[in-house]
Amino acid sequence: MGAICRRREGRFRKGFRVSRAAARHYMTASAPRSREAHLIETALGGHVFVANGSRLFDAVPELFGQFDRAMNEGRVGELLDGVGLGGAPYVDDTPLVAPPVHALSLAIAQKCNLGCTYCYAQQGEFGGAAKNMAAARANQAVDLLVNGAAPGARLNLAFLGGEPLVNRAVLQATTRRAAALAVERDLTLTFSITTNGTLLTEGDAAFFEEFGFAVTVSLDGPRDVHDAQRPYQSGKGSYDRIMENLQPLLSRQRRMQVSARVTVTPANLMLRRTLDQFVAGGFHSVGFSPMLSAPTGQGEMQGDDLEIMLGEMIDCGQEFERRSIAGDRYPFANMVNAMREIQRGTHRPYPCGAGAGYLGVSADGDLAACHRFVGDAEGAMGSLDAGIDQARRSIWLAERHVHTQEPCRDCWARYLCGGGCHHEVIRRGRPACDYIRGWLHYCLEAYLRLAPPGCGEGRRTPAEVA
Ligand code: SF4
Ligand code: SF4
Repeated sequence: MGAICRRREGRFRKGFRVSRAAARHYMTASAPRSREAHLIETALGGHVFVANGSRLFDAVPELFGQFDRAMNEGRVGELLDGVGLGGAPYVDDTPLVAPPVHALSLAIAQKCNLGCTYCYAQQGEFGGAAKNMAAARANQAVDLLVNGAAPGARLNLAFLGGEPLVNRAVLQATTRRAAALAVERDLTLTFSITTNGTLLTEGDAAFFEEFGFAVTVSLDGPRDVHDAQRPYQSGKGSYDRIMENLQPLLSRQRRMQVSARVTVTPANLMLRRTLDQFVAGGFHSVGFSPMLSAPTGQGEMQGDDLEIMLGEMIDCGQEFERRSIAGDRYPFANMVNAMREIQRGTHRPYPCGAGAGYLGVSADGDLAACHRFVGDAEGAMGSLDAGIDQARRSIWLAERHVHTQEPCRDCWARYLCGGGCHHEVIRRGRPACDYIRGWLHYCLEAYLRLAPPGCGEGRRTPAEVA
């Protein structure tokens, strides 16, 4: 049995030979040489990415050579000052002062009908007993969100689980009440839900459309791979039921948007096949996340798997480039987000809003840094009854700042990456840095190919700046 599996695995992995070569190239090209800058070469010429402010510049060959030498000699800061690209840090060591909460996720049902092999929520129960959130608790959470918001504020209310549709009545009542409160108080409130799709009905489609939900469906690939990773607790496959349930949602996307989220494990690394199938199926967007930390360790990505994943991501990215140039829509979410962030010159001291503007709420009303910290003392942030634990939040924001993280403080990608998902880092460390940097290096190249010179905050020549 073991020999057969190994042979199959060998054959399966050989299919990735071309994309693995690309991955190795990008992992090598993105290796850190300087904390201040990173060099990129494309068919368009040489380019310098300046970590401070995540700024991207074209460099004439002579200047590119100077940067290359300065990296070998540890003089990049001096050279940046010399060409006018130095200056005060955009991100300093000061932790964020806890902002008003603008996004809450409600673990509205801490129970689930699936038995996913890698579930971080341990079949929705987060290591405790199966339970639903009571309507009064959900209302209390909505009050926390809207009461602290200034008129005109933009807020998001997310429903997660477990499987949130197990508790449909409370979900719907909470949404209606929250939407009415938002109108009353002049707030812009958006709604989102992450569902396994098995319980979706025509009625849900109408409801989500009415309230303009962003619906994310967890789908791990075509039928065979999805069913192996995301079966019912009985072991039966869930794919056919989900795809049938999704049709009324996919055909009705006007205010509502329906996206597929693929959790990538060593068993579903054929990303291009998955992406093309879901794009053709009419999803608003399709995104991939590597499984880096699972309570049982099952399905966690290792270095070899991450190399294959990077190659597949680049293959998907190259198709995105081809389709963009042809003027076609190809909603590969990871790429769309990366292009947007590079365009904006995103420079952030945290990977996400967890514990800052975003909190998770358990079915019992405990507050957590985000949905993945529900039931986890590591990310406890108070409770709806006792209020947000502001002291704990301040400590969290100080401890999680990217400047306090090793080896992030010396990584050229730190302000694009933010230091990696807190939950995964706390549970497993940082096994994916080569993958992250390789992907960002590829995305910077793609941005340079797709964006005309002068486009975006960062794209100027050093000569112009000096
Ligand atoms: S987590 Fe991100 S910022 Fe930190 S070292 Fe890894 S790639 Fe760099
Ligand atoms: S800590 Fe991780 S799971 Fe939680 S919001 Fe941030 S990136 Fe997402």
